[in-house]
Amino acid sequence: MNAAIVSLSFLFGAAIGSFLNVVILRLHAGRTLLGYSECPHCHRRLRPQDLVPILSFLFLGARCRYCRHLLSWQYPVVEFACGAAFALVALQQAPDFASLRSFVMLALGFFNASLLIVIFTFDLKYYLIPDRLVGAGIVVALVLRLVTGSASPLDGLYGAAIMSGLFGGLFLLSQGRWIGLGDVKLGLYLGLLVGLSGSLMVLFFAYTSGAIVGVALIMSGRKTMRGVLPFGTFLTLASFVVMLWGEKILEWYRLNLYL
Ligand SMILES: [Zn+2]
Repeated sequence: MNAAIVSLSFLFGAAIGSFLNVVILRLHAGRTLLGYSECPHCHRRLRPQDLVPILSFLFLGARCRYCRHLLSWQYPVVEFACGAAFALVALQQAPDFASLRSFVMLALGFFNASLLIVIFTFDLKYYLIPDRLVGAGIVVALVLRLVTGSASPLDGLYGAAIMSGLFGGLFLLSQGRWIGLGDVKLGLYLGLLVGLSGSLMVLFFAYTSGAIVGVALIMSGRKTMRGVLPFGTFLTLASFVVMLWGEKILEWYRLNLYL
């Protein structure tokens, strides 16, 4: 039964991922989310067989069926990532569909996973985090804490204060050179989502992975010390890990290192 829920979550996630690609493109272009999907090159209206997540891209050899223009790898990667993220959320929550609360928690988990993927991709691609995405995240994180009673609202506020406060301080101190204002706002959402101890874990993971990837990119000659790595990508990825496994990581830490 659990395997069925996880597989269905993957398929549902891949389909949502397809929609997230549209959200990313249209949000950047300032266009409405309504209307048919079209090829970004020849603007031909796409048909259902062109829109099967992951598979259409692979079967068409990464090209548009009509104009044969090469398509971005972003499409299948976001679809697969969203499928995998939904499967992991379902696996971790092991939902019981007889309970409304369990169903709502799963839906909110899916929503947060989707939002983190969109922010990750947007920051990686455009070095920008739209306020609208962060605003939606803050609302959902508040709902999660206030309505479902799954976690203390105060803990969320502490998390938001420590993450956003730290980034705000760094922003003011460096006049925006070390960190962007987008990250300061993003800290409000992520802190609310993962709480105080979760925020400390997110900061640790984001800075460690950021440093490792940064050094690797500099050594491979792809970036210089002056080149900017979008920090929001590390923050969102770390937050996804902590959202799902934060409690387990903390437990492991207490058992093994905090004796
Ligand atoms: Zn085309």
